[in-house]
Amino acid sequence: VVVVADLHKSFGDVEVLKGIDLSIHRGEVVCVIGPSGSGKSTLLRCVNLLEQPTGGAVFFDGEDITDVDYDIDEARSRLGMVFQQFNLFPHLTALGNCMLAQMNVLGRSKAEAREVAQRNLERVGLGERGDAHPSQLSGGQQQRVAIARALSMDPELMLFDEPTSALDPELVGDVLSVMRSLADEGMTMMVVTHEMAFARDVADRVIFMDGGVIVEEGHPDQVIGDPTEERTRSFLQRVL
Ligand code: ATP
Ligand code: MG
Repeated sequence: VVVVADLHKSFGDVEVLKGIDLSIHRGEVVCVIGPSGSGKSTLLRCVNLLEQPTGGAVFFDGEDITDVDYDIDEARSRLGMVFQQFNLFPHLTALGNCMLAQMNVLGRSKAEAREVAQRNLERVGLGERGDAHPSQLSGGQQQRVAIARALSMDPELMLFDEPTSALDPELVGDVLSVMRSLADEGMTMMVVTHEMAFARDVADRVIFMDGGVIVEEGHPDQVIGDPTEERTRSFLQRVL
């Protein structure tokens, strides 16, 4: 689905991504791990064009989405993004949050948007809470609404940037189990996470980043269980 080729990103004269190559296949779950500041979020933000890469390219189904002629909205509508902060609209209900972009971006009717939103709220275990406003929901529930909102756009790829790291520990499990069920349904996912147990159980592939490069990648049993690179080993010693 996605091919990232020799991706570079600098902010001023600081090079944050120093040539990233990776590909994500349909139905694959790829977890990205690595120390703070290694460029994980920047990589994700380049894939969904929140950042303009300074070099290299991102291909989506063979099309270069970083090309100036490519319609950014078209690319974005095919990607679902879930952030650490849920970024829900406080004045809209859970249903309303899930309906808005469907109507504005995909041009769906209100009735259709409502039906799709309801189906996706059910998918994340919140079928009964559609009328609640974000302030009436726990952090974990808000994050599940954010996931339902992204799913309502029928994305081909879901991108997650530390979706559980702003949550109280007891709320993390519900969000991870929703993500796990998406993976089981065959959703293509790229997940930046510090949840090593999740990465180990759910990922088809784990990518360890440090200093703006991919240091090591492979099956979770290898990268997390038996890393070959010293940098991977010392990172895992600190987080496990
Ligand atoms: P964390 O685990 O803390 O989220 P990360 O791996 O996601 O870290 P990034 O957020 O990608 O790291 O940041 C990588 C580097 O790029 C950092 O040194 C950061 O300060 C720098 N950086 C990120 N965004 C910007 C920006 N908009 N302007 C300038 N520097 C930035
Ligand atoms: Mg980050």
